[in-house]
This record gives sequence, C-alpha cells and structure tokens, in this order.
Amino acid sequence: MSNNRVYQICNRCVMDTSDEDIVFDANGNCNHCTTALENLQKEQPSPELLQQQWNNILTNIKAKGQGKKYDCLMGISGGVDSCYAVYLAVQQGLRPLLMHLDNGWDSEIAVQNIKNLVDKLKLDYISYVIDWQEFKEIQLAFLKSSSVDLEYPTDIGILASTHQMAAKHKISYIVSGGNSNAEGILPLTWGYHPMRDMKYYKYIVGKYSKMKLKKVPHIGIYGEAYYKFIKNIRTMYILNYIDYDKDQARAFLKQEFGWKEYGGKHHESKITAFWQGYVMPTKFNMDYRRATLSSQICAGQVSRAAAITKLMEPPFDAGAMETLQQYVAKKFGISNSQMDEYLALPPKTYKDFPNSKGFVDFCFGLYRSIFKKKRI
Ligand SMILES: [Zn+2]
Repeated sequence: MSNNRVYQICNRCVMDTSDEDIVFDANGNCNHCTTALENLQKEQPSPELLQQQWNNILTNIKAKGQGKKYDCLMGISGGVDSCYAVYLAVQQGLRPLLMHLDNGWDSEIAVQNIKNLVDKLKLDYISYVIDWQEFKEIQLAFLKSSSVDLEYPTDIGILASTHQMAAKHKISYIVSGGNSNAEGILPLTWGYHPMRDMKYYKYIVGKYSKMKLKKVPHIGIYGEAYYKFIKNIRTMYILNYIDYDKDQARAFLKQEFGWKEYGGKHHESKITAFWQGYVMPTKFNMDYRRATLSSQICAGQVSRAAAITKLMEPPFDAGAMETLQQYVAKKFGISNSQMDEYLALPPKTYKDFPNSKGFVDFCFGLYRSIFKKKRI
C-alpha cells in the first residue's frame, strides 16, 4: 500500500486522506459524504408503502414455509441489530431457526445475550462451531500477509454457513438484521468484506499458510449465485421495513431480555475488538469512528466540530488493549514478540494481492441491473 498523499480532510464530513482512494471536489467536499447525501435525498418510500411491502414479504415467507418446521433462518451475533431482528420476526409470527457462527472469538456477553433471547422466545438454535485449527491457520495467514482484512474469513464464513444451513433445512428465506442505517460510509480499502472474492482469499491462505481451505465455510460469487438461482434462497433485511431506532431497540432488549452492552460497534467478538479498535487505527491509520461520525454528520445527528473533538480522544484504552493483544497472541499460539513483528510489517490492502474485484463488481452490477425492480 502506498499512501503518500498530502493530508487533506473533507470540509463537510471528517473523512480524510487516511482513505487512500478519497476524492475531493472543488469545494473540498469528499466523494463519501457526496454519495451519502445523495442517497439521503433520494425519495424514500412512504411508511404505508413500506408496510405494504413488508406485509407481502411476511406472506411470502409464511407461504413458502407452510408444512415445514421453520420458515426462515436467522444469523445471530449477540449484537443489537441481530437480536432485535429476531425479536421482531417472532413478534410478526415467523418461525425462525437461529444460527450463530462460533469462530472461537465470542465474548462471554455476546454468548449470554444469544442464550437469553433463545430461552425466552423458546427458539431452536444452532451454534455452528468452526474448525478452530483450520480457522486459526487461516486467520494467521491474513495476519502474516499484513492485509487489513483479518475479518474476511469470518464475514465470508457467515455468508457461506447461513446459506448452507438454509439449504440443508430446505428453508427459502434468510432474514437478516443487516440494515441500511448501519452501513453508512466505509471505504473499501478499510474493509473488503462485502466482496465475495475467493481469488484473494485463496491466494492469502495458499501463500501464508500450509493449510488448505476445506472445513471452514467459504463462498465466492459462483457459490452465492448457486444458492440464489438454483436453490432460490433469498435474503430479507427486516429492519429496513420499520422505523428502526437502534437506541430504542437497545433499551428494549435490555428491559425485555436482560441484554448487555459489550462496548464498541461489533465488539461482541474479541478479535473484532482488537482489530477494529486497536490495530486498524494504529497500524493502518484507519479509524472506524471517522467513518461512523461522517455518516452521522450526513444524517444531521452530529456536528462536524463535535466529531473533530471526539476524534481527538484516543480510539482505545491502552491498558485494556495490551491485555487483549496478549490474549489474541496466546490464542493464536504465537509469542508476544512474534505478534509485535507481524503488526510491524508494512500495512497492505486487497490491492496489494491478486484479486478479482473487477469481475465481482461486474457480477454485482449485472445482478443489480436485472433485479432492480424485483429486489423488494
Ligand atoms: Zn466528506
């Protein structure tokens, strides 16, 4: 990665040249907030139309599930979005099978949050425990490669395992807690996670480990097409059809299900807490708070001045991160000095490795243009 750009920060949001691909217009406004504001200004469907679409979806899911034990599969992480989505699905009369991908890094709080929800709603639940030996070697390969995408195997694993499990149980719908509020601004170099790019994945595993990708669930663009078009499995984003307020959802879950906080965004996993909270801002100069605050500025929830003040605070608690780094090294079976060596390697992104981004982009574009009208 060669990010030698002269420092510049956007005049409107707080994204800056820590995203090597950022583009500024003549007014000093960046491509991220320009796109985010354009999306916000697009005409939103009326609450009535959303309600109608949502009713149609519910009817379809229930009709397809008739006579079956479950009518949908839902992945659950223990975080607010996925827990609230499960509650909402059950409240709407759906009969979900819950699944959690256990990659070995769950925090105790996340596990307890899932258990409380499952017990109270009396749902069936599968904990898909990943083959740790293989997964550990794969994650270590990403660490040794010095790529920022240490979480790629987990994100691809969740996508693959939910589809596998839905097909196994002959379930036609995956109902997800993913939502457009949560997506917001995020440069692709900071997280290549949405890309189903097996060329990049297999290159890193092949070059930096002795392991072959076998038991750990994985899926590329062809695999996803197989589940979508041959198995007819559809994914529905339930929270996009309601007026979803995350703070209210959090308070509700606390009250009703004894749900507990686990710290930062997605820190229900220890490796995520370590990687996003510490390694990304220090080694890669990628501070997730910068992207989140920029999304909030666009939505009118935070002023730019307040965001800048917030960014002056350190992104992590140094003492807690030192303990966490030792925990991560121990779990990987490497010494603390070995971990320091890996973290000191020059930072890299997907661009530094063979990848098929162009092809995946082309397939996504094609899919969107064909199914644009049918997406709801
Ligand atoms: Zn901007």
